[in-house]
Amino acid sequence: GGGLVAYSEAKPYDGTNTVNAAEGVNNKKKVVVLGTGWAGTSFLKNLKDPSYEVEVISPRNYFAFTPLLPSVTCGTVEGRSIVEPIRNIIRKKNVHINYCEAECVRIDAENKKVYCRSNLDNTLDGIEEFVVDFDYLVISVGARSNTFNIPGVEENTLFLKEVEDAQKIRKTIIDCFEKAALPSLSDEEKKRLLHFVVVGGGPTGVEFAAQFHDFLNEDLVKLYPHVKGLVRITLLEATDHILNMFDKRITAFAEEKFRRDGINLRTGSMVVKVSDKEISTKEIKTGETSSMPYGMVVWSTGIGTRPVIMDFMKQIGQGNRRVLATDEWLRVEGSDSIYAIGDCATINQRKVMEDIAAIFKKADKDNSGTLTVKEFQEVLDDICERYPQVELYLKSKQMCNLVDLLKQSKGDDVKESVEVNIEEFKSALSQVDSQMKNLPATAQVASQQGVYLANCFNRMEECEKNPEGPLRFRGEGRHRFHPFRYRHLGQFAPLGGEQTAAQLPGDWVSIGHSTQWLWYSVYASKQVSWRTRALVVSDWIRRFVFGRDSSC
Ligand code: FAD
Ligand code: MG
Ligand code: MG
Ligand code: MG
Ligand code: MG
Repeated sequence: GGGLVAYSEAKPYDGTNTVNAAEGVNNKKKVVVLGTGWAGTSFLKNLKDPSYEVEVISPRNYFAFTPLLPSVTCGTVEGRSIVEPIRNIIRKKNVHINYCEAECVRIDAENKKVYCRSNLDNTLDGIEEFVVDFDYLVISVGARSNTFNIPGVEENTLFLKEVEDAQKIRKTIIDCFEKAALPSLSDEEKKRLLHFVVVGGGPTGVEFAAQFHDFLNEDLVKLYPHVKGLVRITLLEATDHILNMFDKRITAFAEEKFRRDGINLRTGSMVVKVSDKEISTKEIKTGETSSMPYGMVVWSTGIGTRPVIMDFMKQIGQGNRRVLATDEWLRVEGSDSIYAIGDCATINQRKVMEDIAAIFKKADKDNSGTLTVKEFQEVLDDICERYPQVELYLKSKQMCNLVDLLKQSKGDDVKESVEVNIEEFKSALSQVDSQMKNLPATAQVASQQGVYLANCFNRMEECEKNPEGPLRFRGEGRHRFHPFRYRHLGQFAPLGGEQTAAQLPGDWVSIGHSTQWLWYSVYASKQVSWRTRALVVSDWIRRFVFGRDSSC
């Protein structure tokens, strides 16, 4: 419903929502969106129902294409090329969307308000703080870099999370080279300045190290020939291997390539302290500690929860959790009008074993205390939709459906007439939950969640009347929508030297130059606008022809 009114362009915000509501002119549901990253932007781009009034609050008035951030650190692409102004994105919509450049500092779940602060101008006495009401809230504020409270990390290392971070890294690299070229420095001091340390062997740390190695060997050595022999790159990783989340073949290839490239790869090494000139580590196996002088440290060890979300979690009874939990419909647990998508939240996936008695009862339509194959088959789709781990488990056992699992657990000789009681049912499904995994904190997950949630909003009214979700087994009846389902489309790991590894669905692994070309084409096609696409591609061409720019 409500699809008849269409604006050719978003109407300018007149700042009089409350007045409008009082006059009865504006009875639109107000949606507040926090954040303009992958999740928030994807929600906004896919929201089509003009019966909402949307307010976007984010301290950054642009969307940043984060997969190309590591390229910005070395000037392979420019910072400007990977950002798209949020006002450009919302201008093209027929939904009334207003944007405010401000940070949300507090969420008041009970009174449905968010408290915001603008940092644009600190001379605006008192005006910089304001409160926004909502009917629905979409939290998509992402995460912060995690320092694990290791002393000195916050003060002395550089993060790689935002566009400004990438630009700062680029400037610091050049500064280190320029300082090392000054005449009065000792060799010792030059060596220190030219020791670059990357902490964290995940995709971001690895890609940065690879990019930097290329920058060094393709551009910097030509420009600073006299310091060539003094440069060192160290990559520190606390676990035994880099790129843990990838296929073993990719990990092995990457480790081998880095060793060949002369990158000092130290796995099983944990950072314990960072001072202004030295970084201290502890070997996990031996407990031995040591310190190394450095010129720059890039810190990329994963993400943590933002303070505003921590505070919100306490309010809603999630204070003992580390990450904000939503249900499979992306609703914050314990609230019916607040949703959370992207890196700031995880889906609290139900375990089959927790619900096993309820599942059995639902399936056993005739209350006989046993399940026939037919009874079971009727709830099969619902189970698979509600518990994605079931499908993963069956795949890992190379079975096509749960009936096979039941039959197998009863013994191979039984045919269609198989009947199971609750104990047999439990034991057949007892291992299924072992396949439960949290979704990774990636742009792919965040943007799919944004699309899903926008579609839910677009069809809210329709689905209120005709709910379509699967059976819920906890007695809540039917839900309005199908739960969110993630589709993994594969992941790239650029390794430098025009070589990239890719892991595609079905564990298909491809490594090498051709994969690099696939990477170029995928990342060009994923750009949010033709403008950024043109900018990124021309940056790549400029780099091929002239090399990277080393002035900043
Ligand atoms: P973000 O994109 O971080 O957006 C959060 C938004 O919230 C921002 O606009 C921020 O300004 C805003 N915000 C913050 N605090 C507040 C507040 N208090 N109030 C209001 N707004 C706020 N993923 C991939 O799938 N593939 C890749 O190749 C890849 N490469 C990456 C490379 C790097 C260097 C990094 C850092 C990440 C990479 N990722 C990649 C991960 C991906 O960027 C994240 O998973 C994704 O950005 C998460 O989206 P999000 O919307 O949850 O958060
Ligand atoms: Mg976002
Ligand atoms: Mg982003
Ligand atoms: Mg998440
Ligand atoms: Mg029965």
